Amino acid sequence: LSDTAFLAEATSCRKCGTGLGPQALFCPACGGLVHSDRLQELAAEAEAAEARGDISAALNAWSDARGLLPEGTRQREVIAARKDALSRRLMDQTEQPAAKPEEKGSAGKKAGIGAAILAFLAKFWGVLLTVLGKAKFLLFGLSKLSTMASMLVYAAYAWRVFGWGVGLGWVVCLYIHEMGHVWELRKFGIKAGAPVFIPGFGALVLLKEHPANPKVDARIGLAGPLWGLGASVAAVLVYLATHAEVWLAIGSIAAVINLFNLIPVWQLDGGRGFNALNKQQRWIALGFLVLFFFATHQTTLVLVMLGAGYRVFAHAPEEGDWRTLGLYLFLALVFAMMSPGGVAGAASIR
Ligand SMILES: [Zn+2]
Ligand SMILES: [Zn+2]
Repeated sequence: LSDTAFLAEATSCRKCGTGLGPQALFCPACGGLVHSDRLQELAAEAEAAEARGDISAALNAWSDARGLLPEGTRQREVIAARKDALSRRLMDQTEQPAAKPEEKGSAGKKAGIGAAILAFLAKFWGVLLTVLGKAKFLLFGLSKLSTMASMLVYAAYAWRVFGWGVGLGWVVCLYIHEMGHVWELRKFGIKAGAPVFIPGFGALVLLKEHPANPKVDARIGLAGPLWGLGASVAAVLVYLATHAEVWLAIGSIAAVINLFNLIPVWQLDGGRGFNALNKQQRWIALGFLVLFFFATHQTTLVLVMLGAGYRVFAHAPEEGDWRTLGLYLFLALVFAMMSPGGVAGAASIR
C-alpha cells in the first residue's frame, strides 16, 4: 500500500492543469508524465545504489520507477533492459565461487573438500543470520490481511484432513516455502503480491511483473522448494530428537507437497525452473528423474517425469543454466526420499 499511497495526491497535471484520474500515469491532454519528479528521484536512487554496489536496491528502485510509467513506453523497455543486466550481475556476484585454488593429491583434495564444507556451512550460517536479522521480513506475509485470512481458512482445512498438529505444521511449512519466493522476488526487485493460501492446492505469490530473464525466473521458482526443504529437514530433525511421530508426518507431507510443486508445468515452481533449462539439460533432467523413480518408487515422481517429458519437446532457450539443473535434481531427489513411502517418510501416516 505504502508505495502507491502517494499516487492519490496528483489530481491535476502540473504542466497544463488538466484534471487527472486517481490512477493516471500520464496527462491525457499534454502527454506529460504525472510522476516525472518521483521518476527522476528513483532513477537517481537506482544509480546511487548501483554505484555503491547494492544491486538489489538498484533493482527495487527501477521496479518502483517502472510502476509509474505507462505501459508501452520506451522508458519501460529501457528499465527492463537495465534490470536484466543488473540481475545478471547480481547472480554473478552471489553465485561465482570467490577463488578456486587447484589442489594436488588426495590429501590436498580432502583439505579442499573440508574447506568447501566449511565454506558452505559459513554461507548457510550467514544466510540464517541475515534471515533472523530480518524477522520483520518473515512476518511480512502475516501482516497482510489477505495472507492471514487465507492462511486461517487453509489451517482449518489442513486440520480437518490431518488433525491439528500435522495440519498446523503443514501450514507453517507452506508459509516458509512462500517466503522463499518473496525473499528472492525482493532480491531481484520484482513486484509481487503477498502469499495467498488456496485449500486443496497450496499457496502462491502472484507476480506483478515478469522476471528479467529465464535464469531469474528459475531462481524465484526454486527458492520456494529450497526454503521448503529447510522446513522439512527441520521437522525431521525435531522428530529425531523427540521421537514424536507428528514431526515426521509434518516433514514428509511438506516434502510431498514440495515435490508436487516441482512438476515442470504451468506456473508451478518446477515450471519456472525448467524455463532456464535448454533442450539438452531437459533430457538430462528427465533421465535422472527416471532413475530417481526406480530408486525411490515415489509415485509423485511419475507426474514430475510426465511434465519433464512434455517440456523436452516444448520451446527451450539456447542458453541453459547448469546451476538450475543441479538444484532442481537435488531437490527432486531429496523430496522423493522424504515423501511418505520414501526412506524418511516410511513410518509416517498411511
Ligand atoms: Zn498536461
Ligand atoms: Zn512455490
